[in-house]
Amino acid sequence: MKKRVFSGARPTGKQHIGNYIGAIQNYVRLQEDEEFDYRIYCVVDLHALISLQETENLHQNAYEMVLDWLAAGMDPKKSIIFPQSRVPEVSELHVILSMITPLGRLYRVPTFKEKVRQQPDNVNYGLLGYPVLMTGDIILYKADTVPVGEDQAPHLELAREIVRRFNNIFGETFPEPFVRLTSFPRVLGIDGVQKMSKSLNNHIELSAPAKEVERRVKSMVTDQARVYRTDPGHPEICNVFSLHKFYSPDRLEEIAVDCRGAKIGCVDCKMMLANNLNKALDPFRERRAQFATDPNLVWDILEDGTKRARAIASQTMAKVRQKVGLA
Ligand code: ATP
Ligand code: MG
Repeated sequence: MKKRVFSGARPTGKQHIGNYIGAIQNYVRLQEDEEFDYRIYCVVDLHALISLQETENLHQNAYEMVLDWLAAGMDPKKSIIFPQSRVPEVSELHVILSMITPLGRLYRVPTFKEKVRQQPDNVNYGLLGYPVLMTGDIILYKADTVPVGEDQAPHLELAREIVRRFNNIFGETFPEPFVRLTSFPRVLGIDGVQKMSKSLNNHIELSAPAKEVERRVKSMVTDQARVYRTDPGHPEICNVFSLHKFYSPDRLEEIAVDCRGAKIGCVDCKMMLANNLNKALDPFRERRAQFATDPNLVWDILEDGTKRARAIASQTMAKVRQKVGLA
């Protein structure tokens, strides 16, 4: 039997280089892999409601995100792209899965603890149930391969536990889903401490104008021990250097030596990164502008994707209702 891919992203803003390096480059790669029958990518708008501030922007954000995906090389002929909320079967599956998920296990999910710290005034059920809904997203399509960044790995661990429990209680129904990481699964934000995230505004958008990319790169935190230009640097702990690994692979050794020997300062090093990053983003910007000339393109893709996703989802749910005794 062929394998199946599922992944998603929250429409909380435009896609950033962390999304690309950690996840989107795999979405694109997997399109060429014949091992898979379906590759399904979801704009997880229900998940975006968890932080509630973004509601008025949900549609616009979804639009911008899909444009980013297309510009990055996703092809709607090879990948099903659709909004989560347009397939209501996922909400039904979420409720069923919630009945077999131990509450104590959800409290231990690291991203829950992190979100509680980030939004202490809005600790809602959705935050706790997030990985259960995410499990529903994945298994509704019987996906076994989930290209995501490292931050999502604990959710996949829980998803496998839920799947095993479901299969044990109701009989073999779902395959266990596994993460598919890139070789660079965690990109730090420009603060150099936290994961690059839309919601933390420590990100560099794929579609940002060249000047904005330069501004953000210049504000990146580097090796804190390097105070003066003449101090030797430590590339192994510097976030600018880690991005050079991706954007300046040919000059990596040279940059490391020059940094350690204080032959280049952090400003020179950042300018080099900004230039290489802008060079890499130029073709992306061009393709994005081209796709944006057709105002219906994204909406047509989402509508077509919804039909294709729902066809799979309704089959799965018919089976699930039988298994749990509801049909
Ligand atoms: P938000 O702050 O709203 O959660 P986000 O920046 O974390 O946004 P998501 O939409 O949650 O982005 O994630 C989309 C995909 O990108 C997921 O697969 C996620 O694991 C991956 N991803 C997000 N941030 C990073 C990062 N800094 N490094 C690597 N992968 C990432
Ligand atoms: Mg996130």
